[in-house]
Amino acid sequence: MHTPPPPATKGLDPASLTAALHRLTEWSNTYLGSLESRSVRTNMAPGDTLDRLPEHPPQVGTTLADWITQLDDAIVPNLVHWQSPNFFAYFPCSASMPAIAGELVSSVLNVNAMLWSTSPAATELEMRMLDWCAEMFGLPAHFRFDSPSSIGGGCIQSTASEGVLASLLSARRSQTKRGRDRSKITLYTSTQAHSSVVKAAMVAGLADTPEDDSRVRLIGTDGSLRMDVERLRAAIQCDLDNGLAPALVVATVGTTATGAIDPIEQIGTMLDSFGEHRPKLHIDAAWAGAACVCPEHQPILAGIEHADMLCINPHKWLLTNFDCDLYWVRDRAALVDSMSITPEYLRNDASESGAVIDYRDWHVPLGRRMRALKLWFVIQHFGIEGLQAHIRHHITLAEKFESWVVDHLALQLATGRSLALVCFKMPTNEQTKALVDAVNASGEVMISPSIVEISGERTAIARVAIGATSVDHEHIDNLCAVVDRAARSVVE
Ligand code: PLP
Repeated sequence: MHTPPPPATKGLDPASLTAALHRLTEWSNTYLGSLESRSVRTNMAPGDTLDRLPEHPPQVGTTLADWITQLDDAIVPNLVHWQSPNFFAYFPCSASMPAIAGELVSSVLNVNAMLWSTSPAATELEMRMLDWCAEMFGLPAHFRFDSPSSIGGGCIQSTASEGVLASLLSARRSQTKRGRDRSKITLYTSTQAHSSVVKAAMVAGLADTPEDDSRVRLIGTDGSLRMDVERLRAAIQCDLDNGLAPALVVATVGTTATGAIDPIEQIGTMLDSFGEHRPKLHIDAAWAGAACVCPEHQPILAGIEHADMLCINPHKWLLTNFDCDLYWVRDRAALVDSMSITPEYLRNDASESGAVIDYRDWHVPLGRRMRALKLWFVIQHFGIEGLQAHIRHHITLAEKFESWVVDHLALQLATGRSLALVCFKMPTNEQTKALVDAVNASGEVMISPSIVEISGERTAIARVAIGATSVDHEHIDNLCAVVDRAARSVVE
């Protein structure tokens, strides 16, 4: 359908908006419906998309039909199809109708919720969503706005990486407020933690490079790839003895490589023994935390009452389109204190009264999207029971794949299954790497590789993360067939 380009001054003309939404709804359903039959990833070469895009912007506006043609010609062929039910790589980004609807409404409203006063409902909806999620996940009262004794609360960050950076800035400020020298601040996490922790240290000026360990301690792990509590204690004590200022420990619930779950209870109890020198504790449950919507999985967060900060990403495994990282803090004033700066043009009576939350002080950016809308729609659409069914279904599928691996003569589990993540390997590292390459070269499914230390050996593993919204039994059967074919080709 060729609609004439709207004059630039009529960018929100109702007729063209209706036509565009109608046409794009059709396009979306066609695209999503095509995913089963598409290769999950194409063999893209650098520059392919650039070659297909016009080199210069159009002098006059073009039509929706033109944009869709270019979308189909230049963009879609050069994508990895993250919404494919055959996508098992990394941690998938689960999407859903209510989340897409929420994104749409958020785009239509297009408010900037930087201050409470710049859109009160956006801030208060976000506060309520964080409290709803705290309730669903069984989190302690100190993370909630609606608990009388709480001085904490939560916000939506764009990503878990931003959450851990906020925690580091807040923990550093708590130290400097107590007179500790900023140049002495130290950070602790395990060798299995996500790279975003070290990146936060680089951004905050604790490390110049990823290898700079002058103020970042990567703590070794036990046989299950969980942070070793005794080594953590010793590292903190050693730094204190040397006049450093341990500020933050980042523990992971569901590591990226294998889904290992650090022992928060023991870490928290050990940290308490440092009394006034206790560093703060941030829990990164970016992927696995979503499982806590099911009461039977809440024990993965056992000990969470010790945590000062926590993040969980519904954009990974809770049917909420990217981006949506839930970030809770025990002490919101400590966080705000690390980032608040108020030029005259942001002053307003509501903020001055101290009675409102101004989320601009909870992260680096000033402006912020109304991300809570999509989460609100998701929770309303599925209800707690629908979200539980989604998580349980994926775990059932992971169990199915796990048993298939166990029975396969050429494959072994690399680590125990963690929720919906299954890590497996072949007898040698070369074979495992070749297996992953062969599986991905097929285009039929996509999985991802990693390397972890198992029994003192650097071991190549293949990761299958079940999390795509529409994945079902037939996709696991197909995955098994593709992995079986690849394994046979490797041993031949
Ligand atoms: N933490 C863990 C455990 C992850 O697995 C990931 C990404 O996969 C991240 C943090 C980073 O997530 P984000 O992309 O939200 O920054």
